Amino acid sequence: MSRNTRTVKGSVLLVTTALVLTACGGVGDAAQPEGENGVIGISMPTQSSERWVRDGSNMSSEFEELGYGVDLQYAEDVVQDQLSQVENMITRGSDALVIASVDGEALGDVLDMAADSDIPVIAYDRLIMGSEHVDYYATFDNFEVGVLQGEYIVDALDLENEDGPFNIELFGGAPDDNNAYFFNDGAMSVLQPYIDDGVLEVRSGQTSMEQIATQRWDGSIAQSRMDNLLSANYSGEEVDAVLSPFDGISLGVIESLRSAGYGSESRPLPVITGQDADLSSVRSIIAEEQTQTIFKDTRELAAQTVEMTEAVLEETEVPVNDTESYDNDVKVVPSFLLDPVSVDLDNYYEVLVESGYYEESELE
Ligand code: BGC
Repeated sequence: MSRNTRTVKGSVLLVTTALVLTACGGVGDAAQPEGENGVIGISMPTQSSERWVRDGSNMSSEFEELGYGVDLQYAEDVVQDQLSQVENMITRGSDALVIASVDGEALGDVLDMAADSDIPVIAYDRLIMGSEHVDYYATFDNFEVGVLQGEYIVDALDLENEDGPFNIELFGGAPDDNNAYFFNDGAMSVLQPYIDDGVLEVRSGQTSMEQIATQRWDGSIAQSRMDNLLSANYSGEEVDAVLSPFDGISLGVIESLRSAGYGSESRPLPVITGQDADLSSVRSIIAEEQTQTIFKDTRELAAQTVEMTEAVLEETEVPVNDTESYDNDVKVVPSFLLDPVSVDLDNYYEVLVESGYYEESELE
């Protein structure tokens, strides 16, 4: 898209926006936000996990500082709502779209619409699959997230020196989120050799993503699955570790374990990983329930995405550092990967409080 096209599109859009506003007058539709440099549509999956709330607000304030208006919408994990929200962003005249998908496979048709209007699309954190109209992808090194979770379990159980066998159960993320497979592949690249050697044992036998995935990353689904795993496989046996890819899942698993009697000095909770450093999980780590989480600094991801989006709109070079890993089944999407950080009781203060991500008082 050239600057000229943008200017022309901008003036056409003014008219369109006026028409839309007239047409919708009195029915409560929010007016298109204004910005001297254009409008960015930001579509986020849900407010139920705090990381996405921070992602949305960090990006909004950075775009606004650069003179963009921001149309920020949350789909609350309802695929159809996200499709309608993105469609509205397109018809209301966004100049670029930043999307963290609910279902990575579901956006093909709306992205065709965006392409017809020359609106560039940046996939945010989650890759959008099956569409050629994904221009760039800003994320963390998702394979590395899983590696860090796997390595944490190896160190916590001292598997280099202990023969076990230790009992582990595995949880996966949402089956329609491409990241879930990267996390799992990363974790299993570390854990599988110990399973093969019999040092780790998955008593349920459930190891494939089909068996371990958690629809919509929902903690209560994970909780029920853990209830079933415990009652079917653990009479007279203890769970030593749980691979959890996300804090919400970790908390569901902990609920289940607590109802089954874990969580006392004589019957401690197993090692439980997580991801996102959500407040409730950091509190749980401080209370020595959840053991670990992965911190992904949403301030950095927001800043990176804003820089990439602006470069696309200004037609300058877009910063990327990976042009091989993220194939969305139609193309390899040029990506920028940031580094995730493993956090536990030993380093949470330094990583989360001293960096200013959380106030100490929020963690009490
Ligand atoms: C994100 C994770 C998050 C998960 C659940 C994934 O796509 O990369 O950070 O834990 O979704 O929201």
